[in-house]
Amino acid sequence: MIIAVASGKGGTGKTTVTAALAANWNAPVAAVDLDVEEPNLHLFLHPAITGTEKGYIEIPKADEGMCTSCGACAELCQFKAIALIGDTLLTFPDMCHGCGGCIAVCPTGALTVDSRELGELCHGTSGNIAFHMGRLRIGEAMCPPLMKLVKHDVFSAYEDDSRDIILDSPPGASCPAVCAVSDADCVVLVTEPTPFGFYDFKIAYEAFSVFEKPMGVVVNKAGIGDRQVYDFCAEHNIPIWAEIPFERHIAEAYSTGAVITQAVPTLQPVFETLRQSIQESVHA
Ligand code: SF4
Ligand code: SF4
Repeated sequence: MIIAVASGKGGTGKTTVTAALAANWNAPVAAVDLDVEEPNLHLFLHPAITGTEKGYIEIPKADEGMCTSCGACAELCQFKAIALIGDTLLTFPDMCHGCGGCIAVCPTGALTVDSRELGELCHGTSGNIAFHMGRLRIGEAMCPPLMKLVKHDVFSAYEDDSRDIILDSPPGASCPAVCAVSDADCVVLVTEPTPFGFYDFKIAYEAFSVFEKPMGVVVNKAGIGDRQVYDFCAEHNIPIWAEIPFERHIAEAYSTGAVITQAVPTLQPVFETLRQSIQESVHA
C-alpha cells in the first residue's frame, strides 16, 4: 500500500502527520521524504542513515563535428533544451528533462549521453521504520527527476509488499506534488482551517481528485479560522479522517522535532483512527 501525504501549501503540518502516521503504523512501513527541495522528515524521525548515493539524469552531449544542422533534435525537444541557431547547435543542460528523444532522432550520432547531477538519495532506519529521502542539489531546478529516482529505489525495494510506503509529498499542486501523488493508492490531504489554508486546499483537491484515488482530509490546528474547509468537504463528500487541535503543547512538541503522538499521547487515538480510515479506504 502506498499512501501520499500531501498539502496545498507548506507549513500545514504535512510532515508532522507523515512522521506520526509512520510511527503509529501497525505493519512494516517505509517513510519516504519526497519533498526533495526541502526535506525535513528526518528532523522528526531522526533516522540512522546507512547509505547515500548521488542521483543523475541523462542529458545529451553534442559533437559539433558530426552535426549536419538538420534541426531534428531542436524540433523534437519540447523544453527548448537544445536549439539550432543558424548552423550553430546550442544545448542548455539545466533545462533538459532527460527524455533522450534528441539522441534517438539524431541521424548522425552527433548526440551522445552525458549526465547531470540531480542530488542525493539517502536511506536508513528509524527504529522499525525504513527511511528514504531525496535531497536536491543546490542550483538544480527540477524536482521530479530526483523524486522518480527515489520512488524507483523505494518501489523496487518493497515490490514484494514487504512494507507499506508513506510518501511525504512536496507541498502545492504543481508537477512535484503530482509526481508524488500519482503512484499512491490513497491520498491524505493535510490542511488548516484558515482562509489561506482553504484556498490552497481547494486547488490541491481539484488537482489530485482527477486521479480518482481514495482521499481523506486531516485538519491540523483545528479550532482556529473558520468552517470553509468543513463545508467544502461536506459538499464534496470528502471524509475528514482526523483533526489535530490547535494547542500549545502540540506546537511545542513540533518545534522540538518530536513525533507528536509520542510527545502528546492523547493524539494516539487520532492517528489510530487515521490509519484505520486509510486502510479501509484502500481495501474498500
Ligand atoms: S533529452 Fe529530451 S529534454 Fe533533454 S534536450 Fe534532448 S529532447 Fe530535450
Ligand atoms: S539531430 Fe543531430 S545532426 Fe541534426 S541538428 Fe541535432 S545534433 Fe545536429
